[in-house]
Amino acid sequence: MKDLHAELEQRKQDGLYRSRRILQSPQGAEITIDGQQVLNFCSNDYLGLANHPDIQQAFIKGIETYGSGSGAAHLVNGHSSAHHALEEELAEFTGYPRALLFSTGYMANLGIAQALCDKGDSVLEDRLNHASLLDAGLLSGARLQRYQHGDISDLENKLIARKTGEKLVMTDGVFSMDGDIAPLNQLVDLCQQQDARLLVDDAHGIGVLGEQGRGSLSHCHIPDHNKPVLMATLGKAFGTAGAFVAGSEDEIEYLIQQARTYVYTTASPPALAEATRTSLRIIQRDDWRRDHLQSLILQFKTAAKELGLPLMDSDTPIQPVIIGDSKKAVDISKQLFQQGIMITAIRPPTVARNTARLRITLSAAHTKQHLDRLIIALSQLTDKA
Ligand SMILES: *Cc1c(COP(=O)(O)O)cnc(C)c1O
Repeated sequence: MKDLHAELEQRKQDGLYRSRRILQSPQGAEITIDGQQVLNFCSNDYLGLANHPDIQQAFIKGIETYGSGSGAAHLVNGHSSAHHALEEELAEFTGYPRALLFSTGYMANLGIAQALCDKGDSVLEDRLNHASLLDAGLLSGARLQRYQHGDISDLENKLIARKTGEKLVMTDGVFSMDGDIAPLNQLVDLCQQQDARLLVDDAHGIGVLGEQGRGSLSHCHIPDHNKPVLMATLGKAFGTAGAFVAGSEDEIEYLIQQARTYVYTTASPPALAEATRTSLRIIQRDDWRRDHLQSLILQFKTAAKELGLPLMDSDTPIQPVIIGDSKKAVDISKQLFQQGIMITAIRPPTVARNTARLRITLSAAHTKQHLDRLIIALSQLTDKA
């Protein structure tokens, strides 16, 4: 039998051991975690909606109307009018004929790849795709190939080399660990030329980018007649939980029939759908949240450049500072925590070897003053380094 204890000890020695801190407050700019009050720069609550009073009220009212649980899968009798209304509103918001709710983004990605691909087909993925997309490709039974990050000609060569079978290309819209945006215009054109289906996972773009927060596709002005299949999550900018897929009538109907992670799981609570409906209205209405977030991103990037911090080419709220060594990244993260600032160290295997980083995420819940504190703390650390 595998020596689990020895492997765990080795992980500790390699600086790769992960442990959970316990959050004792709602998510927000200032949180209480492990008994300490800290400024939070590591959640994905980009618009500050995870603790919004109107969304809470919608959740509570949803429970009063629909109870606490859905009680069954969507195809049995768990598909409530709350789920249905949210799907229609999400389809309209994203400009697609139909949308379909999944319980999590991870399950949505697994379901899409498994439903759309068979043995003999091909899945092509950006090297830096989120783990759930890579797992989706692996579990689909199709042949999985990864192309160089954002490299259209590498993808083109790989697509041309596949002479038989269906081709599915999967990409993050905004890359979750680097914060850069995929070359969506080129991907859409190439996939059309090569008769490949394209899936864009917009977990980090929806709500944040584009007109009224419609996401990366809107940000890149992808025309309606040429839209890829869209997957987006509800646990990040939306501040609730779950995910949806938007696509054509046939694409969505096919997923309802075939996606195992849709068919064989309990529908999420209808009250959650009610909360998300309110969140969607706030996302569409509150341009100020996106405007404020953009001004924070600019403030951070300007200050970081002055400090000479190694930033990545990101204009999104994901602003990684590359440290390299895993242990060093963890040490810095610990020091910041002691000073009341929480930023997690992201290490392999989540990112490539020797690219351990502090993944700073900004939120509309932050103030300019919060950011000033972050920048002072980072400058003290770089002085010491
Ligand atoms: C968070 C994330 C997911 C998973 O979504 P969950 O709803 O948290 O399961 C999928 N793709 C990307 C790019 C993500 O960042």
